[in-house]
Amino acid sequence: MTPRTATARVPDVTLNTGARMPQLGFGVYQISAQDVVEPVRTALDAGYRSIDTATAYRNGAGVGRAIAESGVAREELFVTTKLWNTDQGYDATLRAFDASLRELGLDHIDLYLIHWPMPGRDLYLDTWKAFEKLHAEGRIRNIGVSNFHIPHLRRLLDETDVIPAVNQIELHPRLQQPGLRAFHAEHGITTEAWSPLGRGTDLLDNPAVRDAAARHDRTPAQIVLRWHLHLGNVVIPKSVTPARIRENIDVVDFDLTSDDLTALSGLETGTRIGPDPDVLGA
Ligand code: NAD
Repeated sequence: MTPRTATARVPDVTLNTGARMPQLGFGVYQISAQDVVEPVRTALDAGYRSIDTATAYRNGAGVGRAIAESGVAREELFVTTKLWNTDQGYDATLRAFDASLRELGLDHIDLYLIHWPMPGRDLYLDTWKAFEKLHAEGRIRNIGVSNFHIPHLRRLLDETDVIPAVNQIELHPRLQQPGLRAFHAEHGITTEAWSPLGRGTDLLDNPAVRDAAARHDRTPAQIVLRWHLHLGNVVIPKSVTPARIRENIDVVDFDLTSDDLTALSGLETGTRIGPDPDVLGA
């Protein structure tokens, strides 16, 4: 592959609130608060302007420190965090949100997500009402959900006021989620892909991915990320390796052919990396 040094310019998507969100951001799952500072710094230097964390990742203090030390203006950044399952419910959500802001050292969040629907607890409607209040107060610019299936989304649409801006779901060539993506498109909900690289497993060794990488003089990870961007998904690849952090954002100046897209679309197996949202908390 040809070495590249660009500070990449990532396209934005426009959310249903009118806010703009970078189509490619930096995920920080499974990195400790101490270890996350350096990768976030590297990501900001490389041109990432969107960071995806969660209360459950327990690294908000490190993310906040890297942001504060970066010198990047707050209004240029798009920070996402997520409400953890045990904090669902109206009052608990309000408390958890305050704690997240304190941990990150920020005065507002760009996108706050309900991390999992936890249908068995049946608290996500009350939780959403607290999200709506925080949104109305301007402390959260955009509110969304994660791991919601169509019936969970339908209940929100039917019984609450604000349509989620985003649903962040497991999505990669092995699990392409056509039904959810179509539902999102119909209702103006942006699709955000977690584990966009299939968490770096055998997907990146697949011949369809490797062949396309060779043809385009790119890496397998870049091919998979380009596939997502082509579909309109927001992606948040994670890495702690500086060269990979830079490689993963350097995906905006080439296109896949229709043959590449067909080959990648043929990789669907329906296999999940994470739990089924209907089962977790059932
Ligand atoms: P990912 O698909 O981003 O894969 C990350 C792994 O892929 C890395 O740990 C590394 O092993 C490998 N990798 C990264 N760049 C590579 C490259 N250029 N070449 C080769 N291998 C490479 O998986 P992820 O971390 O699970 O998902 C990304 C982000 O999504 C997370 O960090 C987190 O922010 C978010 N997430 C959200 C949920 C949710 O429930 N909402 C669940 C999981 C992850």
